[in-house]
Amino acid sequence: MLSYGSWFLGLAMEIKDYVAERKIALKDEISRLQKPPVLSIVTVGDNAASESYVRGKMKDAGEVGIIALLTPLSEAVTEEALLSLIQKQNRDEGIDGILVQLPIPKAISEEAVHQAIAPKKDVDGFSPFSPFECCTPKGIVDYLTEEGFPFKGANAVVLGRSEIVGKPLAKLLLKRDCNVTVLHSKTLESDKRFYLSHADLVAVAIGKLGLIDETYEFKPTAWVVDVGINRGEDGHLHGDCVPGLKVARQTPVPGGVGLLTRLALLENLLEAVKS
Ligand code: NAP
Repeated sequence: MLSYGSWFLGLAMEIKDYVAERKIALKDEISRLQKPPVLSIVTVGDNAASESYVRGKMKDAGEVGIIALLTPLSEAVTEEALLSLIQKQNRDEGIDGILVQLPIPKAISEEAVHQAIAPKKDVDGFSPFSPFECCTPKGIVDYLTEEGFPFKGANAVVLGRSEIVGKPLAKLLLKRDCNVTVLHSKTLESDKRFYLSHADLVAVAIGKLGLIDETYEFKPTAWVVDVGINRGEDGHLHGDCVPGLKVARQTPVPGGVGLLTRLALLENLLEAVKS
């Protein structure tokens, strides 16, 4: 019988394989379009983590036949200049999707930036007017669907209520008929333990390395989706959960939700081209 540890390793391969398979299908579909889709990626300032995410997104785009155009702006760029660039790209019929890589400097309003992107090009799905689902929640729910997670009536607990992960994920899970509980930093520790111990699905999006550890009790049949990406003192990336929780499934970090998020971006872009 597989130990939980080897299950964990096994699942890492599964997500990689699932994403690789979906990318082959996307590449095939894109190759049959009249012209390759074009994604504009705008970055502001220098941020090592963002640079690595952007490199990943550009690599994915190249692999499936999407043209990714990178516009790196200086940290000193004004909100007005950034919004004006977005408006220019909104009007550019050669650009199918626009994303502004977060984080951006505090002096620029994230909300203003997201709302400036034309909804039909907002492939990150951050603005409430975007027809696309936010990439991380979409990536997670699509994967769980493919893996046959029984959503209907399942107790889903989402840890974290951010606008880009926790809240939209809770909404998508509700759409799938889960009983959704959203917990946050003001949730009492005893309540957190209670809800987690009754959950069939736990999605952890907190941003605190290893906060969910083996002292928490889970149903052995529970599925845990670890969204967190934290750089440890060892210089490596770690999730919000310690590996090897005693559950049926646990997504790994790295090699888990990050890959699903990147896949969802490609899928949203293809949708943008087709619509
Ligand atoms: P965020 O905006 O900082 O939100 C964190 C959320 O966690 C907040 O709602 C906060 O509650 C809650 N929280 C903090 N401490 C908590 C605790 N002790 N118990 C319960 N809830 C707690 O973060 P985010 O943007 O959602 O990202 C969360 C993590 O996911 C980060 O590590 C980020 O890097 C990662 N991430 C990964 C991907 C991916 O593709 N894998 C994508 C996006 C984000 P309050 O609302 O009360 O403050």
